[in-house]
Amino acid sequence: MFTLTNVGAISGSDAFLLVTAGKTALLDSGFSFCAEQMLDNIARVLGERRLDYVLLTHSHYDHASGSVYCRKRWPEVQIAGSAHTARVLAKDSARTLMRQLNDSAAREQGVTHYEDLLAELRVDRIVSEGDEIDLGSMQLKVLELPGHTRCSIGFYAEKAKLLLGCETLGVLSDSRLIMPCCLVNYEDSLRAIERVAKLDIESLLLPHTGLLQGPACRQFLADARHWLEETRRRIREANAAGKSEADLIQMFKDLFYTELVRKNQPEKAFDLNASYIIPLLLKES
Ligand SMILES: [Zn+2]
Repeated sequence: MFTLTNVGAISGSDAFLLVTAGKTALLDSGFSFCAEQMLDNIARVLGERRLDYVLLTHSHYDHASGSVYCRKRWPEVQIAGSAHTARVLAKDSARTLMRQLNDSAAREQGVTHYEDLLAELRVDRIVSEGDEIDLGSMQLKVLELPGHTRCSIGFYAEKAKLLLGCETLGVLSDSRLIMPCCLVNYEDSLRAIERVAKLDIESLLLPHTGLLQGPACRQFLADARHWLEETRRRIREANAAGKSEADLIQMFKDLFYTELVRKNQPEKAFDLNASYIIPLLLKES
């Protein structure tokens, strides 16, 4: 009925290709500097078919940068994202930041030269809650799932019992250990997890984690909720005991910066994210 293939060029540069009988869609699009390799991976799966959609779960550079390279290879592709993602990607300041982050990730990988197309970044189709994306034999319903960012969305195919999730739901750090990724709102993140936990899901695709199937989907969402609430409880307890913000960030790091997360997230990016998450966990709701 559908296939889902990891076409990401390197770890951390996540991109998954969804192929149905009618249409093809790329979920997230990775970095700029290794986009060509991703395009080759996509083309190998597609054969004679073309790429119809790029679906962006949010505007972060490691998810959205590769989209513009897809348009160069498949000019008719429609890049879909939330209104907030469209606003972010249209800003020069955001593109500059994305360029800097791509350059730094490229250097870490020993890449010194790559084609920079970020000036042409844009969302072609703005989608919001309840909108449907027609993949022929599959309809994807848009779910707004803010919490990781304001612009985060997911896509649900009811008949196929498939949820294409986003980082608001958390990232697998180790077996049964899910790192909270609420960079903008704790309550929204909790609501998003509760909301999708009520859906009938047999396949769950998660950025930086991959495809879960069967009972593992429900287990992930239960663990995600547990760790979001438990991390908040632990951080607040340590804060009440007089720990400094630096201590709390270290606590978060000791718990979640595992080998698995290290593969996807440079230390600088992890530290920066933790510096957003800790104050949110301390904030009174
Ligand atoms: Zn992100």
